[in-house]
Amino acid sequence: MYDYTKGVVVDLVVVGGGPSGLAVAQQVSEAGLTVCSIDPSPKLIWPNNYGVWVDEFEAMDLLDCLDTTWASAVVYIDENSTKSLNRPYARVNRKQLKTKMLQKCISNGVKFHQAKVIKVVHEEFKSLLICNDGVTIQATLVLDATGFSRSLVQYDKPYNPGYQVAYGILAEVEEHPFDVDKMLFMDWRDSHLGKNTEIMERNSKIPTFLYATGVKNGRYTRKNVKSIEEDERCVIPMGGPLPVLPQRVLGIGGTAGMVHPSTGYMVARTLAAAPIVAKSIIQYLNSEKMLSGTDLSAEVWRDLWPIERRRQREFFCFGMDILLKLDLEGTRRFFDAFFDLEPRYWHGFLSSRLFLPELLTFGLSLFAHASNTSRIEIMAKGTLPLANMINNLVQDRD
Ligand SMILES: Cc1cc2nc3c(=O)[nH]c(=O)nc-3n(C[C@H](O)[C@H](O)[C@H](O)COP(=O)(O)OP(=O)(O)OC[C@H]3O[C@@H](n4cnc5c(N)ncnc54)[C@H](O)[C@@H]3O)c2cc1C
Repeated sequence: MYDYTKGVVVDLVVVGGGPSGLAVAQQVSEAGLTVCSIDPSPKLIWPNNYGVWVDEFEAMDLLDCLDTTWASAVVYIDENSTKSLNRPYARVNRKQLKTKMLQKCISNGVKFHQAKVIKVVHEEFKSLLICNDGVTIQATLVLDATGFSRSLVQYDKPYNPGYQVAYGILAEVEEHPFDVDKMLFMDWRDSHLGKNTEIMERNSKIPTFLYATGVKNGRYTRKNVKSIEEDERCVIPMGGPLPVLPQRVLGIGGTAGMVHPSTGYMVARTLAAAPIVAKSIIQYLNSEKMLSGTDLSAEVWRDLWPIERRRQREFFCFGMDILLKLDLEGTRRFFDAFFDLEPRYWHGFLSSRLFLPELLTFGLSLFAHASNTSRIEIMAKGTLPLANMINNLVQDRD
């Protein structure tokens, strides 16, 4: 517990105890710096069900935080065409991941304060965080890790992301038509809509897909549902502007525009970015130079969003803008070509590992794999997003 009565100024306050916040709290405290984590429900198991590619978690030595893995995945483009994805996929064991991070934080001496931050006031060398329980916590640096609620980080452009909307259930079923050894990454088939022409028409204009992960003990996420054990509704903002760069409050995860604009995924990317943010915070806080809070934050933001990452994000936003314009047939043609690419391209794209100019080669390769109809469609619907991307790339220089 943080003892606010002593008026201590901690090195770092992390606002938000989701995966992003705890990862940074753990790593900064490991270096011996003082850290306070503020969250209204620090003991709650994270509510979202996370899916990741196994190689992403393997690279971070987090294989022990996966609960179910599938050796491969499958995409149904339509009734006649299927893509087999030879890339293991997994569901994150969020209880294990959170417990592991919390235990490390506790043994590193991180202090916890159970509250919501409602306001932050900055002075030259410290910031005051005012909580909804009347407590004020003082820190040299403040990290906003409050997810999509973006409580403290500021934006100077209208916040206009695309949204991924999903409804999911964890259910026990009597039977199902899927291969439980394969993760169903996308199913674009629509024959189950039967003769309901209204829904068929709506789905052909605004396409939806099924994502299902089966487990052998009888639970599954569709069909002949006997009982629902959990349900989840999600609205994930994707793309939109980055926060003001730099600014006094630091950000990571949902607050810092880190969700993949074309997929809505983020957990692996944000956990991989946590050491970069932590290293940067440690380096500048330990620096001989007496940097003001504003200068310190500017250095950390530069390390989190270097120019190559900002350019990569522009390209992903371009991808999202095209996808949002495609109807069901166009979307099918797009993914038909996408999953025919060399694995290093589609793996790299989905896991944010490709940078310009590799992304341009990826784009050309996708174009080359696309059908003629798809090429015409991409040219027609992609011209405006392409112009926007080029404009943003030209304007954004280091
Ligand atoms: C339903 C859903 C499913 C998702 N599935 C996936 C997936 O499968 N794979 C993937 O990679 N990504 C997925 N994402 C995207 C992303 O990875 C998650 O949103 C992830 O939880 C973001 O982590 P975070 O730490 O940035 O924020 P969060 O997990 O949202 O954590 C924010 C924390 O901040 C706290 N907080 C908020 N405001 C305040 C305040 N004022 N003061 C103090 N604390 C505050 C909240 O209580 C919360 O604990 C999903 C998102 C959603 C919504």
